[in-house]
Amino acid sequence: MKLPSLNFQILLAAIIGVLVGMYFHTLGTEHQLVSVGLYTAGLAGTFFIDLLKMILIPLVFCSISVGIANLRAHQQMHRVWVTTLIYFTATMMIAIGLGLLVANYFKPGSGLHIMMFADAMQNFEAKQVPLSAFFAQFLHGLFVNPFAALAQSNVLAVVMFALILGVALVVGGERFNHLRNLLQEALDVTMLIVGWIMYLAPLGVMALLIQLVAVQDITMLSTLVKFVTVVIGVLLLHGVVILPLVLYVFTGKTPLWLVRGNREALLTAFATSSSSATLPVSLRCATQQLNVKPEIAGFVLPLGATINMDGTALYEAIAALFIANLVGIELSFVQQLIVFFTAMIAAMGAPGIPSAGMVTMVLVLQSVGLPAEAIAILLPIDRLLDTLRTTVNVQGDIVGSLVVQKMTLQTPKSLHTNT
Ligand code: ASP
Repeated sequence: MKLPSLNFQILLAAIIGVLVGMYFHTLGTEHQLVSVGLYTAGLAGTFFIDLLKMILIPLVFCSISVGIANLRAHQQMHRVWVTTLIYFTATMMIAIGLGLLVANYFKPGSGLHIMMFADAMQNFEAKQVPLSAFFAQFLHGLFVNPFAALAQSNVLAVVMFALILGVALVVGGERFNHLRNLLQEALDVTMLIVGWIMYLAPLGVMALLIQLVAVQDITMLSTLVKFVTVVIGVLLLHGVVILPLVLYVFTGKTPLWLVRGNREALLTAFATSSSSATLPVSLRCATQQLNVKPEIAGFVLPLGATINMDGTALYEAIAALFIANLVGIELSFVQQLIVFFTAMIAAMGAPGIPSAGMVTMVLVLQSVGLPAEAIAILLPIDRLLDTLRTTVNVQGDIVGSLVVQKMTLQTPKSLHTNT
């Protein structure tokens, strides 16, 4: 008997995961079936994430260095760089702008008094990080001994070193052909392993969703309903309308075509809440199903998984306004502008791992003098919202690879330099 496609299996697994999680939730965590079920789901989910993490660093390293090395012609490399950065910045700005607009209109949090959350807030002590220190830390973390960075899974530093190595391979030209070929083979073999790991994706996705839904604090959620609705609404607006529109305008590709090609990646992002863990799957979808050239995907996607986070950026902006409303502070236009830019830096600085945005959220709150402790209010619902914002982050990266490919490789000029 032929098994249904992997796509379908993952989708089915996700639905089953949510349903079983809801059932477990109604039984309560004390129930024996639930504790055994959650233990097993915990093992299976961690196993899947461990496998993705295992392959992540070799993959990031090879795909970025090979991606750049293959963009041989200097001029073309320059264009890919510039287009990618413009795309990342512009889409994040749109995302934050949307978030602020909608949050100003609906004012989530006004009326709820922050004292309601006094308990939650007392149990949590936020780390105080001033903007200047955060920025210095961010810069300091960019350049690290590559061997240490590889060994410690320091994704941002690995990305930076791979970028530099890629440029050196381009500049060195023919002389470094052996090394370039070696890295290319390393990348191919890594992708083969990714394919094997993906066979386990349905199981992993199901296990992760069971856990997530079963332990979610639903009472807290109902108090924060308006905020959650606004966040989900804007995330959907950006992920389902704006990004596909950008894709359509620049490449003429339809949303249906996009979702057919990238749903494996979106579902993995949803279940793992980690852009980095999803990267192997995003690369596979982009190169094998959406026809993105490996050198473009190998550059845009790993970089995007670390710095391009539309979902996180818009979430941080809405959350800052929400907290301001809770404490009864009306943020002025200038303060909102500060939120705008710090949300962008905070999203770029957040690594692609679960709840990373929550940590850098402190920066946004403090930039306008809001109490950092207030993130205690957001923590209980963070895992829930992280699923969707990570999905939007990954959607943004994949659309980015398609737009960058269209803008850089298919113009007559670059085709000319390419030959
Ligand atoms: N989990 C997100 C990601 O990996 C980051 C965040 O918003 O926490 O893209």
